[in-house]
Amino acid sequence: MGTPQNRPRIAIASLMHESNSFSAEKTALADFEFFDPAGWEKGNGEVAGMVSELDPEEFDVRRTIFASATPKGPVTATAYEELTSRLLEAVRASGPVDGVLLALHGAMFSELYPQADEETVRRVRRLLGPGVPLVVAHDFHANISPLTVELCDALVAYQQNPHLDTKQRGARAARILMRTLRGQARPVQAIVKPPLVWNIVFQNTNVDPLLSITQASMKLETQPGILAASVLGGYQYADTEFMGPSVVVVTDNDLPRAQAEARELAGRMWDLREQIELRLPDADKAVQLAMNAPKHPVALFELGDNIGGGSAGDETFILERLLQRKARGWVVVIFDPAAVEAAKQAGIDGAFDRPVGGATAASASRPVQVKGIVRSLHHGRYVETEVRHGGSRYWVMGHSAVIEAVGSTADELNLLVVTSERSSPNSIHQLVSCGIYPERQKILVAKGAVAPRAAYQPVAAEIVTVDTPGCTAVNPAHFTYTRVRPGVLGVTSEDRPIR
Ligand SMILES: [Zn+2]
Repeated sequence: MGTPQNRPRIAIASLMHESNSFSAEKTALADFEFFDPAGWEKGNGEVAGMVSELDPEEFDVRRTIFASATPKGPVTATAYEELTSRLLEAVRASGPVDGVLLALHGAMFSELYPQADEETVRRVRRLLGPGVPLVVAHDFHANISPLTVELCDALVAYQQNPHLDTKQRGARAARILMRTLRGQARPVQAIVKPPLVWNIVFQNTNVDPLLSITQASMKLETQPGILAASVLGGYQYADTEFMGPSVVVVTDNDLPRAQAEARELAGRMWDLREQIELRLPDADKAVQLAMNAPKHPVALFELGDNIGGGSAGDETFILERLLQRKARGWVVVIFDPAAVEAAKQAGIDGAFDRPVGGATAASASRPVQVKGIVRSLHHGRYVETEVRHGGSRYWVMGHSAVIEAVGSTADELNLLVVTSERSSPNSIHQLVSCGIYPERQKILVAKGAVAPRAAYQPVAAEIVTVDTPGCTAVNPAHFTYTRVRPGVLGVTSEDRPIR
């Protein structure tokens, strides 16, 4: 145990952002929240785990900077420079440090640095010099580059998705650094990246195919000589060279073993590639399935327009197919304030004949012409009486109108609901409040992936998730990647620049 003068000094810093490089909404400095160092041990994140694990009697712990922003588009160049210079300055101001713990998301994309976290690690390493141990913690969704692993002494990522182990992983990172500083361990590490996209649809670590690999990594960590074993799913909404899953194994001074174990786990991921092929119907196929289903209503979940995931809320891929295929008895909700105004002008029973949806900067689809009459107008507030996703009770979709579209019969109504605010379809009362009986409809279209399930399960005979384009699309084929390294299975890279 050292006196305050000779305790080894450890600086902790954190910059967290998961950036969707396909989003037009940039992330600015103002989007970042800076956490007061006095409260870092609160909460369940890896920073809390690091702070709690480090023994202040033995180590002189310096809390430097901890900033985080909600997932959005690329971090602007100025925000990235400001964040990293504040981080470096804070570490420098801590005086000469003996070790650094760095918590980074691992999927930050900045305008000038697509692998932004690698650049952050590089800058910290440059400040520290080669001899000072640097341990990095990453999110399960990190897109790790091999160079990141070379620039730090150990890298520990969450093993679980949903992320329930963030605090434990931070604590593990801290333990590796403490053991290193005590001279009890000499971490060396290896990374292997299976050349595929581990689709977000298959990233739940509590179920197979990922469960068995996650369990293997946990078991590996219980073995002597293994300091950490992380299996990461990666983040497919980032057009970066090292997008995709990774395995990182840290051993105590046994590089061949780290390499062998990482290869083994990565090989298991690769071997499951056929199990993680997307086999979801597209909009046209889904509409036909719904029309021919033995029991109704069938709920179609539009994965590419997942409002809860930040999508436009006005994609028309399914609406267009319903009209083309002359389906009957459907309900579609579309965010379109101009259409709401037009319906208000027309009034109840008034004629409605105009393009709908596909109108925002984020939309991937075209507006679709809808002809019909205005059936009803609504203030757009509704109440959910049951416990549903997110726990909200009061919902707002803004002024809204129900359009009875052409092709309706007395028993089979084609209903388009246009809203003036985006509202994730987490409550069936969105429809009920508009005088719609969802159980009497044949096809219910909801813009979401998981959140609407609790709302639609009780009324729907079947729920079909539909592979539609849009900024929340789950199928990488809907995006054009230009930076992903060649040979990654499942990536369509048109216009690949010559390197
Ligand atoms: Zn994550």
